[in-house]
Amino acid sequence: MPAVDGADELLRWFEREGPDLPWRRTRDRYAVLVSEVMLQATQVARVVPFYERWMARWPTAGLLARAPLGDVLAAWHGLGYPRRARNLHLAARAIATTGWPDRLQELPGVGPYTAAAIRAFADGEPVVPVDVNVARVTARRWPDGLPDVGAPCAWAFGQGLMDLGRTVCTARAPRCASGCPVRPGCPAADAGAVAEATPPGRRQSRYEGSMRQRRGRLLGAIAASGRVEIAVDPTAAESLIADGLARRARAYLLPVR
Ligand code: SF4
Repeated sequence: MPAVDGADELLRWFEREGPDLPWRRTRDRYAVLVSEVMLQATQVARVVPFYERWMARWPTAGLLARAPLGDVLAAWHGLGYPRRARNLHLAARAIATTGWPDRLQELPGVGPYTAAAIRAFADGEPVVPVDVNVARVTARRWPDGLPDVGAPCAWAFGQGLMDLGRTVCTARAPRCASGCPVRPGCPAADAGAVAEATPPGRRQSRYEGSMRQRRGRLLGAIAASGRVEIAVDPTAAESLIADGLARRARAYLLPVR
């Protein structure tokens, strides 16, 4: 391993403590895409069973592409933000039809972060996907830029950064004094200025009573019993229809085909 500022320590810590997550056992682009889309707005522990069921049912982009969107949305139910599932389905169709594009961001639902994650975690390129956790760790521990660990260590370094941001260098309660593997040499902790070095976070909008919750309830009812009366929540029903996540049949909301 290279002797770069804090990098060795992070790599050793990841090797010792990094959890054995199912998407860490593959370098398949489609599997990495599925995991990254699921992880975009859902916590790791919640994603694991969804990911395992999903990959058992649709292990390739081709198989997902052939599935009805209604089945895909039903399988997604519980993860939230169902537009992600629709985009994943569209991406699978594009991959099955024309292959992976050179510019991964041309795929529906794939932004700069997810494109970088596929390049790093499937293709083995020495890039670090920067999500909110990695951005926070970088700002605090490596404000002048992340060390270059070289291609052989890039996968573990990227995964380790994510684990560190999720479990140790957290937004509200960073564990600088207990268990941070890169505490020596951390400029934010040395200066007693961790809060000041922290980038502003995104504020989560309230879920209780939100349109997101109302839409989720209707999609849950469709997944459970195949249809739900539009009159249960006409506004939420119309927004699902407008987004292509459900269809109307007389007075009912049905799965899309
Ligand atoms: Fe984050 Fe504190 Fe560790 Fe620095 S010492 S990387 S601020 S947890």
